[in-house]
Amino acid sequence: MSDIVLNAQSLSKTYAQADGEPLNILKNFSCDVKAGEIVALVGPSGSGKSTLLHILGLLDRADSGSLVINDRDVLKLSDGERTKIRRNDMGFVYQFHHLLAEFSAIENITLPQIINGVGRKDARARAMDLLTQLKLDHRADNRPAKLSGGEQQRVAIARALANNPSMILADEPTGNLDPETSDIVFNMMMDVVRGQKIGALIATHNMDLAKRMDRIIQF
Ligand code: ADP
Ligand code: MG
Repeated sequence: MSDIVLNAQSLSKTYAQADGEPLNILKNFSCDVKAGEIVALVGPSGSGKSTLLHILGLLDRADSGSLVINDRDVLKLSDGERTKIRRNDMGFVYQFHHLLAEFSAIENITLPQIINGVGRKDARARAMDLLTQLKLDHRADNRPAKLSGGEQQRVAIARALANNPSMILADEPTGNLDPETSDIVFNMMMDVVRGQKIGALIATHNMDLAKRMDRIIQF
C-alpha cells in the first residue's frame, strides 16, 4: 500500500440556485494527504471548506473528478461500501462537539467502536487510553454537560480516533473556543494525530494554527 491515504483529483461541485446562476463551489480541486501528514485547509467563510470536507468524508458526492482513499476509488463504490470506509477509515471532528448528552465521555468514545463490532472491554480500554492521551482520564464518567468547551472538544477528538481511522477530517475544530483553550486543544490534537501517524485535513480560518501544521492549502 502506498503511504498516500487520500488522493483527490479535479473535484468539482456546483449547487443549483433557485434564482440566478448555479453556484460553482469547487473547481478542479486536487490534493494528496500522506499518512502522518497534517494539512491545513484555509479560506474565508463561504469558500467551500465544509463542502470539500463533506465530499472527502463521503458524506456528499462531487459532480466530477476522482477520489481515492487507501488505494480504493471511492466514487465507484456503493453507498454501503462508502459507509464502511467512513466508519473504519475516517474520523470526524466538527466545530461543535455533537457528543451524545445522555452518555458519559467514555461511553461516547466506546459506542462507535461497539457499533463497529469491537467487544465492550476492548472498546473501553481503547477509550480510556485515548482519554489519557488527551489528559481527560479523570473526567471519563462525566456527561458532556459537566465538561468545559475545551474538554468537550477533546472528547470529540478521542471519539474521532476511536476506530483507528487512517484519516481525520476536522472542520474548524477549535472555532468555538477562546484563543487560550483553542491553543491547548489544538496542541493535544496535533500530538495524538502525530503519535498515531494518521493523515489529517483540518479546516481553520486561524492562520496561526494553520502555520503550525505541515502544509497549508489556501482556498
Ligand atoms: P466554508 O465552510 O468555507 O465556510 P461552505 O462549504 O460551507 O464554505 O459553503 C460554500 C458555499 O456553498 C456557500 O456560499 C454556501 O452558501 C454554499 N452552499 C453550501 N451548501 C449548499 C447547499 N446544500 N446548497 C446550496 N448552496 C450551498
Ligand atoms: Mg464551513
